[in-house]
Amino acid sequence: MKFHFLSSFKPENIDAADWNNWTWQLRHSLKTQDDFSQHFELTKDELLAFQQGKELFNVRTTPYYAGVANNSKSDSIRKILMPHRYEMAEGHQQMLDPLGEKKNNPAPRIIHRYSDRALFLITDICSVYCRFCTRKHFTGQEQAFIRNEEYEMAISYIRKHTGLREVILSGGDPLTVSDGQLDRVLSDLRRIDHIEIIRIGSRMPVVCPMRVTDDLVKIIKKNKPVYLMSHFNHPDELTSEAVEALERLVDNGIPVMNQMVLLNGINNHPALIQALNRRLVYLRVKPYYMFQCDPSMGTDHLRTSIEDSLEIQKELWGHLSGLAMPNLSVDIPNGGGKTYLVPNFQVSQDGRVRNYVGWDGVEAQYISPPENQIRKPDASAYECEWNDLKNSKKI
Ligand SMILES: *Cc1c(COP(=O)(O)O)cnc(C)c1O
Ligand code: SF4
Repeated sequence: MKFHFLSSFKPENIDAADWNNWTWQLRHSLKTQDDFSQHFELTKDELLAFQQGKELFNVRTTPYYAGVANNSKSDSIRKILMPHRYEMAEGHQQMLDPLGEKKNNPAPRIIHRYSDRALFLITDICSVYCRFCTRKHFTGQEQAFIRNEEYEMAISYIRKHTGLREVILSGGDPLTVSDGQLDRVLSDLRRIDHIEIIRIGSRMPVVCPMRVTDDLVKIIKKNKPVYLMSHFNHPDELTSEAVEALERLVDNGIPVMNQMVLLNGINNHPALIQALNRRLVYLRVKPYYMFQCDPSMGTDHLRTSIEDSLEIQKELWGHLSGLAMPNLSVDIPNGGGKTYLVPNFQVSQDGRVRNYVGWDGVEAQYISPPENQIRKPDASAYECEWNDLKNSKKI
């Protein structure tokens, strides 16, 4: 193998069969200061967070992910899972619902912002509560799978909105639910004629890769096309266990895309970004988004500046394969939607002549043909479909 992937650290007194069982991992997750102090030597700042910060956002990690943190060459993974006193500090922008999801919430557990695709939050449970979470107003509140009555209302909303083409299972973490529950959700969605694509957005391949069992893969495969959106943020998260989980998915024809978030002092360095994304591409996982961290409560110390993010992107440009380059994107606060950030290579424009300087300094012009020379092809065979998509109404 081209890259070397380390296994995570398993304490010797734990049986391998237990360790490799995902429900064991969830049942034995670390939640209290006591649990954490058995795996980590807590700093004063972390202790303060345990003592004061509980009401702000839950604390939880799988023993496996605690092992990844302990095996890491830096404290990056620790910062993702460990509460810190800074979470209680006053920030520069602190929003309870940074993506304005509450105003795009037409049915229980449905976030419908774009015309053709909607989120379906099937649970609010996660096996690790990431300190940077953007959905703190929802995640880990009730700690439950969606109630039956709400489930029926959500499914009926999706059924009625024939403009929807895609449903994104999210939460919480949709892979914390049982195989039976997941199968029910996926097959109910599959029975809806207008739903083409289902996505599952999950951090389980990162924080509990043993969740990716043969049975799970069968369920996902049976309900194809289902895309799995993983959430690796740091190359040290790619342990041999995680690699195996990803291979099991991809070998079974399940496309995996990765969404990462830039985090201050954790991964905001081009060396780390290239390392993560080259390994992902090698494992046949497509890096999809590289998000600016949302200004959710208690995340000020974890956010990078837009300037820092652009600088990292600029450094990677031209050196990192397009396959390995994720799209840098900011979610505009208050439900403005996602916007891509791209480097601007155009230096000037004179009518139809545009002047560019490429990433390594090559200067050249692109001269457009005149507008009266532009003709549209016959698209009548597809026009109906396009109009449907354009005119599909959210509500
Ligand atoms: C991010 C997001 C999506 C998916 O957007 P893509 O650009 O298609 O990945 C859909 N709905 C909401 C509310 C989102 O925040
Ligand atoms: S897994 Fe996702 S929803 Fe859960 S805490 Fe982490 S970022 Fe939030």
